[in-house]
Amino acid sequence: MPADCSPRFVASDNTSGICPEALEYLLKANACDDLAYGNDSWTQRAADRFRSFFDYDCEVFFVFNGTAANSLSLAAMGQSYHSVICHELAHIETDECGGPEFFSNGSKLLTASGADGKLTPQGIERLVTKRSDIHYPKPRVVSITQATEVGTVYTREELLGIRAMADKYDLRLHMDGARFANACASLAASPAELTWQAGVDVLCFSGTKNGLPMGEAVVFFNRELAEDFDYRCKQAGQLASKMRFIAAPWLGLIETGAWLDNASHANAMAGYLADGLAALPGTELMFPAQANSVFVKLPPAVLARLRELGWTFYTFIGAGGARFVCAWNTTTELLDDLLSDIRLALEASHSNVG
Ligand SMILES: *Cc1c(COP(=O)(O)O)cnc(C)c1O
Repeated sequence: MPADCSPRFVASDNTSGICPEALEYLLKANACDDLAYGNDSWTQRAADRFRSFFDYDCEVFFVFNGTAANSLSLAAMGQSYHSVICHELAHIETDECGGPEFFSNGSKLLTASGADGKLTPQGIERLVTKRSDIHYPKPRVVSITQATEVGTVYTREELLGIRAMADKYDLRLHMDGARFANACASLAASPAELTWQAGVDVLCFSGTKNGLPMGEAVVFFNRELAEDFDYRCKQAGQLASKMRFIAAPWLGLIETGAWLDNASHANAMAGYLADGLAALPGTELMFPAQANSVFVKLPPAVLARLRELGWTFYTFIGAGGARFVCAWNTTTELLDDLLSDIRLALEASHSNVG
């Protein structure tokens, strides 16, 4: 890393750069000209590769970012008078600027609470049965985030429990997989086990947070829902004319196995950080670190000191909580620096108080 490249970014896994495998394929795709709008050989190869990756004859579309992937897929899963059930901390609820409602022409999000950022079958049932009259937006979709917004994962059993409840009320199942690779690594589960085998209809699979320059795959296991999805993407400004530069780096992640290595590494780094924090007196982990994020309660003076020292992180959940996210290139050296700065700041804040 060059000297002027201050590596104090732990705010998100999208502060990391492009991983070598994705970059290698990006350069390969640049060696020859090819057809536009996804009619190129790389996009075809990547889509076919996704079908073997999931061991399923799915439909695959590439878009630029996760907000578009979620918004457009949710729009495809219901009518404007339908509603989408999600956790109150879901990215689609808190971080997409109303994109899902906008692209669906008004489908309402219905939110439920749930421990560790997870929806439960009971929480879903409560929202579905709350009303049955025509004045309530009809629940049609359940959206879950795997791994969750607070760095936990749904186990296979939990997914099956949600699917059973979805079946009871004829609901479709959407998965925001911004950190799907991290969930596969965490659970030592195959992509198939965590998707169609658990009744997921549509997965938004993030490449950006796994090591791509940009790009998400929208994967339809329920192929009927994919009808005209290409038009939906085009209308929304999400049809890349040089789609090969999204598809080829994706192929790099999948073909080389980097998708799993990157996720496993990021998870291991988060585990390392969580262990280090747990050993510091005065800190409190807010959620089990099951994927690549760590949430910790720290005194305001400590947060301020870390910011002064140039550390980037978000504090959007709970009073005094900080989120640290690890990526494919996070190092133990970086985390040791962070832990050391936290320890010193904690000691300083204690001596100020004492
Ligand atoms: C990052 C993220 C997304 C996608 O965000 P974009 O900035 O639109 O790419 C979606 N869901 C979750 C849970 C995320 O963390």
